[in-house]
Amino acid sequence: MSTLPACPQCQSEFTYEDGGLFVCPECAHEWSSEASTLAEAAVKVYRDSAGNVLQDGDTVTVVKDLKLKGSSGVVKMGTKVKNIRLVDGDHDIDCKIDGFGAMSLKSEFVRKV
Ligand SMILES: [Zn+2]
Repeated sequence: MSTLPACPQCQSEFTYEDGGLFVCPECAHEWSSEASTLAEAAVKVYRDSAGNVLQDGDTVTVVKDLKLKGSSGVVKMGTKVKNIRLVDGDHDIDCKIDGFGAMSLKSEFVRKV
């Protein structure tokens, strides 16, 4: 007999399988048997313009002049950005740049130092 996983909601061990879903008879929670593998595969890898993997806290430089939205400022190519924070979104790097303050960048426009 195959071992079914315990209910992630109430830890009940009386789960059963129903058409590709696991069902918990105690709290009526249903979840996909593929959910856990999918979640692992979905861990996002952030890469810079050169394909290096980026991590929180990395220092990067900007690889092209970036115009700032809503102002006339430009972050010059070669600007060093310390202690980046990776976030999920169109602009996937949160950071602070000296003279500009907090802002968001795209990982494709930076290169790891
Ligand atoms: Zn349950």
